[in-house]
Amino acid sequence: MDKITECLLALSSVLGETQNDIALHEPTFQGNEWTYVKDCLDSGWVSSVGEYINQFEDKLAQYTGASYAVATVNGTAALHIALHLAGVLPDQEILVPSLTFIATTNAIIYTRAIPHFIDSDFSNLGIDLKKLKSYLQDKTIIRNNTCINKESQRIIKAIIPVHIFGHTVDMDALQQLAQEFCLTIIEDSAESLGSFYKDKHTGNFGVIGILSFNGNKIISTGGGGAILTNNEKLARLAKHLTTTAKIPHAYEFIHDQVGYNYRMPNINAALGCAQLEQLPIFVERKRHLAQVYQQAFSHIEHASILTEPTFCKSNYWLNALILKHPDRSFVENFIEAASQHHYKLRGLWRPIHMLSMYQDYPRMDLSNTCELFDRVISLPSSAQLGQTGMTKSVATAAQKEFAGR
Ligand SMILES: *Cc1c(COP(=O)(O)O)cnc(C)c1O
Repeated sequence: MDKITECLLALSSVLGETQNDIALHEPTFQGNEWTYVKDCLDSGWVSSVGEYINQFEDKLAQYTGASYAVATVNGTAALHIALHLAGVLPDQEILVPSLTFIATTNAIIYTRAIPHFIDSDFSNLGIDLKKLKSYLQDKTIIRNNTCINKESQRIIKAIIPVHIFGHTVDMDALQQLAQEFCLTIIEDSAESLGSFYKDKHTGNFGVIGILSFNGNKIISTGGGGAILTNNEKLARLAKHLTTTAKIPHAYEFIHDQVGYNYRMPNINAALGCAQLEQLPIFVERKRHLAQVYQQAFSHIEHASILTEPTFCKSNYWLNALILKHPDRSFVENFIEAASQHHYKLRGLWRPIHMLSMYQDYPRMDLSNTCELFDRVISLPSSAQLGQTGMTKSVATAAQKEFAGR
């Protein structure tokens, strides 16, 4: 049997035969979404002030264990403000994996800082910390508690770990490295709501972390994001900056700096409150789906399903098939062939340093990243696909129902 047929069979043993497209990731709205959104419409509280926003922030803080959560219009906006609050200044360099969603890097540009691309690890798709450590030892010098890039003579201010597909970076090792090289940690936890490093939720390891609630994330508010922090002053500033830096006043408009209109609307937060109630179930279903995928692909020689690192309890936001050897044509042909069977797979993001606008920024050797691009395929991973005891025909019926949206 050829490799593509083999993988297609494994895929259909999980997803069943279907005439309707099975998307990479769809939201599940089976809780109080209608009730809470209707409440916003009935009361007129749909915009940037309302009870659901406060409630959503409180519940997020509670779930993640962060002292403060500030809800924003999307995850990119949260990143922008997070970088700003971490003290990132123009012309400082920020270490960022080339293997991430574009938002992480764009936010660096919004602050007029400079992305400095770093390589990724085969085991969890996060930063390759060993490789980074020897690179920094070689290329930087510490002066007055500041890390200087010997070649560009610019300050390397911060590092942004990204917990790709919900699998966490080794945060103990990262914190050690950050301390050694005087780097501020800003955590991109956009994909890892529901993921824990050891016993601590992601987003709690740096000075500031962010979440995303875009339509394809584990919970969705339509569009949305949040800033997480354990620092009261930063939390207050985050709220201030995301609400146009307006001084509270009954009728006057006074703003004390250039702020941003980044506040999450109440109607989106209403969705978020309903979604958060279901988050533990979503995580359970997604972890179950991951097991089913692992089982289905276990006999395949040339590829395997990416599993969580030992130090991590992952939300398995997206399941990924990883090939033993890089094979671009397999990646493309398998995605095509699966699409014929209505399974909508995706490749990895094209590494950011390969995009035209990011070609001229500093970087280390990125060979792992380039290899991973030709080795990883993400598989349909919606929470409803992982309902325990769900037979293929039920899964197909559920998909039909969703295809009608
Ligand atoms: C989704 C995502 C973001 C933020 O995206 P928004 O669509 O702006 O909410 C940031 N970083 C990563 C890695 C993401 O996957």
